Amino acid sequence: MEQHLSLAHSETLKDLECSKCDETYPHTVPQNVCTACGKPLLARYALEQLAGTWTRDSLLTRPASLWRYGELLPISDPQDIVTLGETMTPLIHAERLGARFGLTEVWVKDESRLPTGSFKARGLAMAVSKAKSLGLTQLAIPSAGNAATALALYAAAAGMTAHIFMPQDTPTFNKETCQLAGANVTLIDGLINDAGRIVAERKADEGWFDVSTLKEPYRVEGKKTMGFELAEQFGWELPDVIIYPTGGGTGIVGMWKGFAELEAIGWIGKKRPRFISVQSTGCAPIVKAWEEGATEATPWRDAQTVASGLRVPQAIGDFLILEAIRKSNGAAIAVTDDAIREAMQLLPTTEGILTCPEGAATVAGLKQLVAKGMIRPSERVVLFNTGGYQS
Ligand SMILES: *Cc1c(COP(=O)(O)O)cnc(C)c1O
Repeated sequence: MEQHLSLAHSETLKDLECSKCDETYPHTVPQNVCTACGKPLLARYALEQLAGTWTRDSLLTRPASLWRYGELLPISDPQDIVTLGETMTPLIHAERLGARFGLTEVWVKDESRLPTGSFKARGLAMAVSKAKSLGLTQLAIPSAGNAATALALYAAAAGMTAHIFMPQDTPTFNKETCQLAGANVTLIDGLINDAGRIVAERKADEGWFDVSTLKEPYRVEGKKTMGFELAEQFGWELPDVIIYPTGGGTGIVGMWKGFAELEAIGWIGKKRPRFISVQSTGCAPIVKAWEEGATEATPWRDAQTVASGLRVPQAIGDFLILEAIRKSNGAAIAVTDDAIREAMQLLPTTEGILTCPEGAATVAGLKQLVAKGMIRPSERVVLFNTGGYQS
């Protein structure tokens, strides 16, 4: 496993800080949310120290994996790393797709190449590695699907037990892969939020550690590496627009945090991409909050969409997603399931890239943004294809 690691480095993770009230917590014991206000905790690093000592050139000799950014990751002992080979994902210039919309700089960050079938691998690789370093063995998760598969596989690789709670109508791929990996799976009559409630109620009695996204501080650290890769792959010049299919919003929160860290250590400048959050009209709590100018979202009722990863009626990090959208001059838009189904063909037919429904939602989102005049022809736009196609 160690060959995947960039290098042994001294500990740069300082502590965990509440994203709302600035309360701090040690990272040396298991932590969930802020005990004072219930909001997510975020990892803080010794950025001043890194600014003077860590150089972009140091990456040149490191393996093409998310672990190459070790100094800004929460794992300090290489022995703790649980890896399935988290390759850097390709950033593909989608010229033919772009031409369809009169754009010259459309790019696809193809996360389907990651282990476990989706980009949830980034977050769970980090969370399970950190859990290992803390001596945890029983991990519980509520999931809309892909996070369950990722936890089941990383927990298996670490010799831990995964306790999974997800909706009955979660895609077959996710149900089957969790079973194959030997996880304890409970299918519930409800959605991810209902699953989250069950985990919260039972975890103390059962001795489970809750790895719900943003209720566990390190999945977001894994997801921020999408932003690091993007910056590096574009030669440390961020794109103009990022179109991101948003469920729990961990990717937006993570990339926003990651960009701030890169600026703090002097690797990038002030420029930020406009974050465009795409949801389905069948579950669009962030879009509704955005349109109403609210700083928090209200729970979405009767959530339904073909893009299961977007079926998140309530996100604990809602205020952080909305803040990143606002501060980046972005927007939140909704696309219909019909538009998503139609868009499923666009990347395969123009670029040869198969997409998951969530990835297709970004293509449908692009179409809408162009129709509304929200993207200029030469602007550099990145679409996130967050997972692989599953029949
Ligand atoms: C979970 C998931 C999303 C949503 O990601 P967040 O960062 O939680 O908003 C999008 N696409 C796929 C395929 C997913 O599994």
